[in-house]
Amino acid sequence: MTQPDPVTTAASTSVDTTANHRSFTELGLIPELLETLKALDYQSPTAIQQSTIPAVIAGRDVLGGAITGSGKTAAFALPIIQLLAKSSKQSKQGNVVSSLVLVPTRELAQQVADSFMRYAQNIKPNLKVLAVFGGVSTNTQMLSLRGGADILVATPGRLLDLISSNAVKLDKVSTLVLDEADRMLSLGFTEELTALLEKLPAKKQTLLFSATFPEEVTSLTQSLLNNPVDVQLQSQEENTLVQRVITVNRNRKTPLLVQLIKENDWQQILIFASAKYTCDRLAHKLDNAGIKAEIFHSDKAQGTRTRVLDGFKRGEIRVLIATDIAARGIDIEKLPIVINYELPRSPADYMHRIGRSGRAGEAGIALSLISHDEYQHFAVIEKKNKLRLEREQHLGFEADEEAPEDCPSRVEKPMAKPAGSGKKHRNKMPQANTELWSKK
Ligand code: AMP
Repeated sequence: MTQPDPVTTAASTSVDTTANHRSFTELGLIPELLETLKALDYQSPTAIQQSTIPAVIAGRDVLGGAITGSGKTAAFALPIIQLLAKSSKQSKQGNVVSSLVLVPTRELAQQVADSFMRYAQNIKPNLKVLAVFGGVSTNTQMLSLRGGADILVATPGRLLDLISSNAVKLDKVSTLVLDEADRMLSLGFTEELTALLEKLPAKKQTLLFSATFPEEVTSLTQSLLNNPVDVQLQSQEENTLVQRVITVNRNRKTPLLVQLIKENDWQQILIFASAKYTCDRLAHKLDNAGIKAEIFHSDKAQGTRTRVLDGFKRGEIRVLIATDIAARGIDIEKLPIVINYELPRSPADYMHRIGRSGRAGEAGIALSLISHDEYQHFAVIEKKNKLRLEREQHLGFEADEEAPEDCPSRVEKPMAKPAGSGKKHRNKMPQANTELWSKK
């Protein structure tokens, strides 16, 4: 089958993301990968895959602006697997790694490694894919690193530990992926990242993905990337995710949440709170209202976190209450609803939180419940993310015009009134949403 020269799409530094939609075959993927994609029922490449796959195959550096849920993992994993499968397998000397993927969290490390394994299942001889991250025994990871790895997915801190114990060497890395670079830097991994980059060879292919581009990410891209193909995509979620905001008095938030869960009969709900104690308290209150919820935050042991997340993914846990630790990277297919019980501090985290819903073309709702003390902050989130969402009120839970006496924001200026100039508007549903909100 004739395949177009992948270099043609990568020739300019900026990719036309509206270019004709091409199939996986037309992107130049090898038969083993096409077979796997068929078995996974991936019918056509997502926008980021369209642009990234040919660029990586052609050996280009890539700067990708995309959030989890856009099909980003396959966008870099498929061409990396292809490059490794095509490169003549040299017998490895020592604990060397060919492709290194750096990620900010443990969960994401495991998830990305699982994706690599899934996508590489038909490649012979098998590629060795490993994930290393903190919170679990180093010894097991040291043992598995013996003989190196074709693909290593790692969090920066643990990887540095393993390098200092000579368990792994990075001087033969040919492809480096920095996944969720903004998150990595905002989590304070700057020093670790600098130390790691020094251990990598100067000549390598680098792919950097980030949902947002604050100054420190931009300077990292400038120092790290060599004439990259710039793939800046609007998130897929924009088409499929409905964002809603309901204003409510602070002391009525939990009753409103209970009401919404019961009214809509949602079966798989991810709720974000800003503090661990809020998660614990909210779980207790939901429990009292007959809604069983599990908690996911950094005080929980790694084993518990994995168990809870798996249970949630399988649909055995209906409600998961989490801090921002779950905001990035966690991939739960077809998660219908994400609720911001409290807002995240950073506007970028708002985007990451809502990215848990409406994955890869599926419909979803991101619902924020905001009280008077959060009005101003939500306006900042909107401004930074170039959003303007209509304020809604829920019948029986309408926010007072002024912040109530006990609300911490009495001193803050109230934000724009809900649409309808003071009239309560009755739980107005956006058109695209009706199906999801109706009881099944
Ligand atoms: P990611 O953005 O990499 O976290 O991917 C989000 C979800 O989309 C994952 O569940 C993938 O399995 C799925 N996915 C990725 N690419 C495709 C595709 N081309 N067609 C269908 N599903 C996909």
